[in-house]
Amino acid sequence: MTDTANWICPQHPFGHTWQADSLKCTLCEARRTASEAIVALLAGLPGWDIPRAERLISAHQAEAAPPADDTIPLTVHWDRIVMHPGETDDDTIVGCLTEDGRPAALVLDDEHREALGLMLVDPDGN
Ligand SMILES: [Zn+2]
Repeated sequence: MTDTANWICPQHPFGHTWQADSLKCTLCEARRTASEAIVALLAGLPGWDIPRAERLISAHQAEAAPPADDTIPLTVHWDRIVMHPGETDDDTIVGCLTEDGRPAALVLDDEHREALGLMLVDPDGN
């Protein structure tokens, strides 16, 4: 956590306070994350301090967003879109969709585009 996890704006500690949403300073451009705001609120409770509040927020973050299991490949399907390079140095972009509908892009330079095209046309390499 940064030192913005306080009751007051870190840029101008005298007179600047957080807005009602606790994420923006009332008087300058300073911002803090929601986690920092919650840590600051918890740390102000009787019996609490910043380390205890940070431990609870870390535990909550781990529950809310468990680490991705990156041993499972992300499956994407071709979206029938291919954007060819506009100039000689541009990449070819193959539009895809994930299974939950998010867009994905396969980016191919000229060498990889040609190699992939040949493999798709002739899988046995004849
Ligand atoms: Zn400020």
